[in-house]
Amino acid sequence: MDFSLNDEQRAWQLKARKFADEHIRPISVERDRIVDPAGTFDWDVVRKGSRLGFRTAAVPKVWGGAGLDFVTLVLVASELARGDSAIGKTFTQCWKWSHLLATQCSEEQKERFLRPFMEDHEYLLGRGITEPDAGSDNRLPPESDPKAGLKLRAERQGDHWVLNGTKVFIAHGNVAKLIIVDARTDPTVSVKQGTTMFLVPRDTPGFRVGKVFNKSGWRFYQNTELIFENARVPVTNTVGTVNRTDAKRTGQAPGGDPFSDLEYTANALGVADAACDQALAYAMTRRQGGSTLIEQPAILIKLSRMYILAEALRSFVLRSAWEHDNKIRSPIGALVMNFSTDVIQETSELNLEIHDSGPCEVDYAADKLVNDGFIWSHISGDSASRLRAMQQLLAHKAAG
Ligand SMILES: Cc1cc2nc3c(=O)[nH]c(=O)nc-3n(C[C@H](O)[C@H](O)[C@H](O)COP(=O)(O)OP(=O)(O)OC[C@H]3O[C@@H](n4cnc5c(N)ncnc54)[C@H](O)[C@@H]3O)c2cc1C
Repeated sequence: MDFSLNDEQRAWQLKARKFADEHIRPISVERDRIVDPAGTFDWDVVRKGSRLGFRTAAVPKVWGGAGLDFVTLVLVASELARGDSAIGKTFTQCWKWSHLLATQCSEEQKERFLRPFMEDHEYLLGRGITEPDAGSDNRLPPESDPKAGLKLRAERQGDHWVLNGTKVFIAHGNVAKLIIVDARTDPTVSVKQGTTMFLVPRDTPGFRVGKVFNKSGWRFYQNTELIFENARVPVTNTVGTVNRTDAKRTGQAPGGDPFSDLEYTANALGVADAACDQALAYAMTRRQGGSTLIEQPAILIKLSRMYILAEALRSFVLRSAWEHDNKIRSPIGALVMNFSTDVIQETSELNLEIHDSGPCEVDYAADKLVNDGFIWSHISGDSASRLRAMQQLLAHKAAG
């Protein structure tokens, strides 16, 4: 397999690296340290990055986006995350939902939502699935139990759907201009068969944002409650067929949307690279026992482990992206996401150990990478995600 990059891929990689060096890393720790979880966000960096095309990178060229292939998206996502994982995620979170608008909405809906998204540097997108009593059950739903999974109810009243219920942990809940919301349109059948996707603009009557979650990692990235009290959504804002959200919701159907897996994995790669950068810089300058840390075999062994893990993840994610670009059907997309959890957590912890090797205060930037790495335990390293990856692998093997 040829891992060399073409000119366009290299140009996007360098553009993202420059932006991360000049505009993301300088504000990373400062934003992370802000105590109020709603105060960590910074529109200035969003606008600057959007002007360079990072927010709209996944939108097809016909709609004015960069229409990047998956290999290039992976390169960009990892460079942005190398500056700051949560700020990078703020851009890449828009990729999958803008791609969903471009590929699954009607032409009329694209004019109303994708067009303004392309024209406004402050137009962010979100997706509301998780609820207080429905997290993993939305991804691994017990097939026959109508009570499992999301419960936010949508009932048809004339030319509107009326939504009632609560979503939690929704990314960009308080900063998005449009949230794509999954609601139960038939509560008598399983979540896979009775769910519909709705386009919910921020100013929808009866819809409001609740609390902003105070996370230890990804502090820049906003996660909120969304509250629907007789929220009235026009029938023209339904995406696709009523009661048929299952494949689109999980993004895991055959031929489905691989954005999530690659995005999380590329972001983890950026953090692993940042952990290597930090550890090496510290080991080269910190003196203990009459020499710099880099001269001590125990430190070299730790550094070697970190670089091995980062390079293994780079190969794995680039291969996975290349397979998606070349329409090669493979189950490794889900596995690479789980591997990224192991890599981000081990490399960030080794970096922290190296920083903590002397009688100094633990470096906040090293601490931050560990906190960001724990996010993967929830979003992709959890048991449900590993189970789903293995189910896909076994199904793939059974199909020959
Ligand atoms: C930073 C962040 C951003 C997020 N952004 C969004 C967003 O934008 N939109 C959105 O809709 N949601 C979002 N979420 C929510 C996320 O999708 C859920 O946290 C996730 O689905 C897990 O649900 P839960 O937290 O309710 O855990 P639970 O489902 O309660 O699971 C708890 C534990 O039990 C395990 N478990 C559960 N069921 C099974 C099973 N059947 N077999 C084996 N183990 C099982 C899980 O793996 C986990 O370890 C976000 C979460 C985080 C942390």
